[in-house]
Amino acid sequence: MNIAVPPGLLGAEAAAFLQSKHQMLIGGKWVDGQSGKTFDVFDPANGRKITSVPEADKSDVDRAVAAARQAFDHGPWTKMTPTERSVLIWRLADLLDKYGDELAQIESVDNGKPVRDARAVDVGFGIDLLRYMAGWCTKITGDVIPMSVPGEWHAYTLREPVGVCAQIVPWNFPLLMSIWKIAPAFAAGCTVVLKPAEQTPLTALRLGQIIQEAGFPDGVFNVVTGDGRTGAALVEHPDVDKVAFTGSTEVGKLIVKGSAGNLKKVSVELGGKSPQIVFPDADMDHTIAGTASGIFFNAGQCCTAGSRIYAHKSIFDKLMAGLADEASKLKIGRGLLPDTNIGPVISQEQFDKINGYLEAGKRDGAEVVTGGERWGSEGYFIKPTVFAHTNPQMSVVREEIFGPVVCAMPYDDDDLDKIALEANNTQFGLGASIWTRDMSVAHKLARKIKAGTVWVNSHLTNDVALPFGGFKQSGWGREMGREAIELYTQVKSVAIRL
Ligand code: ADP
Repeated sequence: MNIAVPPGLLGAEAAAFLQSKHQMLIGGKWVDGQSGKTFDVFDPANGRKITSVPEADKSDVDRAVAAARQAFDHGPWTKMTPTERSVLIWRLADLLDKYGDELAQIESVDNGKPVRDARAVDVGFGIDLLRYMAGWCTKITGDVIPMSVPGEWHAYTLREPVGVCAQIVPWNFPLLMSIWKIAPAFAAGCTVVLKPAEQTPLTALRLGQIIQEAGFPDGVFNVVTGDGRTGAALVEHPDVDKVAFTGSTEVGKLIVKGSAGNLKKVSVELGGKSPQIVFPDADMDHTIAGTASGIFFNAGQCCTAGSRIYAHKSIFDKLMAGLADEASKLKIGRGLLPDTNIGPVISQEQFDKINGYLEAGKRDGAEVVTGGERWGSEGYFIKPTVFAHTNPQMSVVREEIFGPVVCAMPYDDDDLDKIALEANNTQFGLGASIWTRDMSVAHKLARKIKAGTVWVNSHLTNDVALPFGGFKQSGWGREMGREAIELYTQVKSVAIRL
């Protein structure tokens, strides 16, 4: 292991886990890949290798799916009462709380993010979601249906678990995205094969240990590590009933195609280019802080990052100055350092991609209000960047950058239809925010925005009970809230002629 951290920042438990040999969890056993191959995991703060994990090939995917199938078809899991499932999920939440600091440290090393954010958001929100979903186990019900065909009938619906779920998650919130997926799947009574992103497989492996400690039956949760090829093998597998994916729109389309063989149920949460629309009456201090965190949180690596700002021309300059000031206050550095606000981006590939966009923005004539370049000389750090006076022809405005880069444009018309047209001028439709004191304007504009979530005077605030997902090319399906249960259940109608 090669983690250049000042002494005392990495706890003994996290260090021991990072130094341990990493294996995959299949059918309750920790195993190597059958090929014996491994791949390396890197520290984004310096680009050096941290450790290696097994590379799952098709035969490993077959084993994992068979274990999940066995657990679904024949194991004790599907015979448990809803309350018994609920108790297990709640226990898992308690254990995540117990191991919260350790998990946050592992996440911070693997992903680069500030350890404080990892504890509060990745672990903290994950615990809340598990507890929320634990409550759903006992509330998944059908309906009694009045029938109109001749004769006397008693008809009802049952909501049953969809079966074996392949869950493929990205690297921006590795543990949290895993929990977004497993929590409703477990609540519904499904079994899971999880594939974390190849850049950040470590907390998913630790999660497997904790799920075992909570007492879940063998095979209910399996984890395989590998890249897109492992993901594709899962997606194409004929014994998988459902695929849930979070990642890029490009790969999302491959997931949809790959699932067609046995017509798996599919839910995909994809890219975004979310607008933040600022009205002249907005509380400027609150708006400056909120729009800044709307783009810079997690180094901009959020699918709902507020990466396009539309601000009324009367407050545009003030907002730009405020954003530059906010950016200057953000401490850039290694995620494990307690005062870090912005860690590195995930990989050399993303670092190069974001730098390419920074160059493209400058070349296309965007004004660099702040940032616009890398930070430091090692690791994948990018300065928080504000581009002003951009326009919708520029690639920085059209495409998802997935870094701490925002494009700002002034508007000078109060017509809400025209503002909505600008805001909706994207292939994506994941999130949007409206900053104003006028709730009539907020409600009216919210109806015109084509996005799965519209925030008012906030951006990025998710809640366990609030459905989350995309319009347009940002995806299919809604995670969290009651809607997430619908993703993992299917309805059976029972019609009885009396
Ligand atoms: P990002 O752009 O955020 O890196 P990707 O969409 O490339 O996201 O990856 C998200 C997840 O999808 C990762 O776990 C990755 O390994 C997986 N993945 C990549 N390509 C494929 C594919 N063709 N089929 C299935 N999963 C894939």
